[in-house]
Amino acid sequence: MPIHRSSTLLASSLGLTAAISALSLWAILEMRHDALEVASANGHNIALLVQRDIQRNLDLYDMTLMAVVHAHAQPEVRALSGEVRESLLKDYTAPTHGMGSVFITNAQGVATFNFGKEIPERIDLSGREYFQAQREAKGNQLYIGHPYIPYSSNARSSIALSRRLEREDGSFAGVVGANLELNYFRELFSGLNLGEGGTVSLHMRDGTLLARWPDSPPAGTLAGAFERYLASGEETFFDVGSDGETRWHDFRPVEGYPLVFSVALPSAEIYEDWYWRGGLIALLGLALDGTVIGLALIALRQMRQRDRKEAELQMAASTDPLTGLNNRRAFDLRAGHEWSRYQRSGAALSVMLMDIDKFKAYNDHYGHPAGDAALRTVAQVIAEWTRRPSDCAARFGGEEFVILLGDSDEADALALAEHIRASLQELAVLHEHGPLGVLTLSIGVASTSRFSPVNWAELLQSADSALYQAKNGGRNRVVGFRPVEVESS
Ligand code: GH3
Ligand code: MG
Ligand code: MG
Repeated sequence: MPIHRSSTLLASSLGLTAAISALSLWAILEMRHDALEVASANGHNIALLVQRDIQRNLDLYDMTLMAVVHAHAQPEVRALSGEVRESLLKDYTAPTHGMGSVFITNAQGVATFNFGKEIPERIDLSGREYFQAQREAKGNQLYIGHPYIPYSSNARSSIALSRRLEREDGSFAGVVGANLELNYFRELFSGLNLGEGGTVSLHMRDGTLLARWPDSPPAGTLAGAFERYLASGEETFFDVGSDGETRWHDFRPVEGYPLVFSVALPSAEIYEDWYWRGGLIALLGLALDGTVIGLALIALRQMRQRDRKEAELQMAASTDPLTGLNNRRAFDLRAGHEWSRYQRSGAALSVMLMDIDKFKAYNDHYGHPAGDAALRTVAQVIAEWTRRPSDCAARFGGEEFVILLGDSDEADALALAEHIRASLQELAVLHEHGPLGVLTLSIGVASTSRFSPVNWAELLQSADSALYQAKNGGRNRVVGFRPVEVESS
C-alpha cells in the first residue's frame, strides 16, 4: 500500500514536471518563431518599399528617355532650330533633376546634348558600353549598363539607362542616355532603420554590386547568399556569410529592371531578445520543475517516515517488550483468524501452553532481574522453534507462553513441544529449586486432530488442563490433552 502511494506521488510529480517542461519548451519555440516572424516581416516590408521606390524612379528616368526618343522621332522637332530644340529637351528632362544627367549622342557617339552636369562639348562617347549595346540592339529597348565614371566634372560612379534613337528607316541614329549616380541609392538606403547589424544591397542580376548600406560587413561577405538566390530562386532564407555569421536574407527583384534589392539581418540580432526571454522561461520552467520534484521528495520522505513510525507503533502494539514475542493482544487476534480458517478448511489446529517450573522460587532465589533474564532465555528457545509462518508464539502472561500451530496435528505439536522442553533443559540454566536443578518448562498440548472443541476457548482451556496435568505429573514434561471418554477407556 505505501509503495503504491509513493509511486503514485512520484508518477504524478514526474507527469507535472514533464508538462511544465513541455509547456516551457513550447513557449520558447513559439517566441523564437515570433521573433523571426517580426524581423522577417520588417525586412520584407523594407525590401518591398525600397524596391518600389527604386522602380518608380527608374520608371521616371525611363519616361524621360522615352519622351526624348519620341520627340526625336518627330520631323517637326528635328526641324526646329538648335536653341529651341535644346530648351524643349531641357523641359523633358526636368523631372530627373538631382539624380544625374541626361545626354544624347549622334550615330557616331558624339555627345550633342547634355543636361544636368557639365560634360565636355562634343565629347566622343562611342566607346561606352551603352552606346555599343544600343548600336547593336534590335528595336528600342531600355538598357542598363554596368557602373562607370562619366566624363562630367566631379563625376562619381554611375550607371547609365539608355534607349536607341532611330531614323525613319529604322537605322541607328544615336543614343539617349541618363546617368544615375550610385550615390543616389546610398542616400536612399541611409535613412532605413535596420538595427545594428542589418545591411541592404542593390545588385545587378549578373551579381555586380551597385550600392550597399552600411559599408560593413566588408564587401563580398554576403556574396554567397546572392549566388544562392540566383541559383535557387529562393527569396528568403538563412545563410552563413564568409565572416561566419548567420543572417536572414530577403531578395526582391526590382520589377521591370535587371536589378535585385536585398535585406540581410543577422540572426543574432533577430533572436537577441528571444535569447534572454527564452532563457528566463527556461530558468522559470527548471525552477518550477525543481520545486515540484523537491516537494515530491519531501512528501515522499514524510510518507516513508510516517509509514515507518506506523510500522513501529504496530510492532510495539503487538510485541511483548520483555521477550520480543507477540503479546497477548496480537495472539488473540491471530487465534481468531486461525480458528476461522480451521472452521473453513478443517485442517488441524493445535495449541500448546507452557509454564516455567517453580518460577516464583527462581525469582525469590535469584532476584527479579535474573527472573526477567530467564524469561528472555525461554522466549528465545521458543522463538527458535517457531519459525514457520503458520506458527504463532506469544507471551501469554507472567511466566506462561503459548504457541498456536496452524495446519498441525497433535503428533506434530507434541513433537515440537518435546523439542522445546528438551532444548531448554539442555541449556542448563541453574535453578536451585527446579525439578532437575535447572530451568524447565511444563507443556500442555491440545489439538483438533484429537477432539472437536466447539470454540477456540475450549481448545485453549483443554491445553491449560493438559498443562495442569503436566504440573501434577511432576513438571518438566509434555502432556497432550485427552477428552474424558478417551481417558476413561
Ligand atoms: P509452578 O511450577 O507451579 O508453575 O510454580 P510457580 O512458582 O512457577 O508458580 P506461580 O504461578 O505461583 O509463580 C509465578 C511467578 O512468576 C510469580 C512471579 O514472581 C513470576 N513472574 C511473573 N511475571 C514475571 C515477570 O515479568 N518477571 C519476573 N521476574 N517474574 C515474573
Ligand atoms: Mg504460572
Ligand atoms: Mg510456573
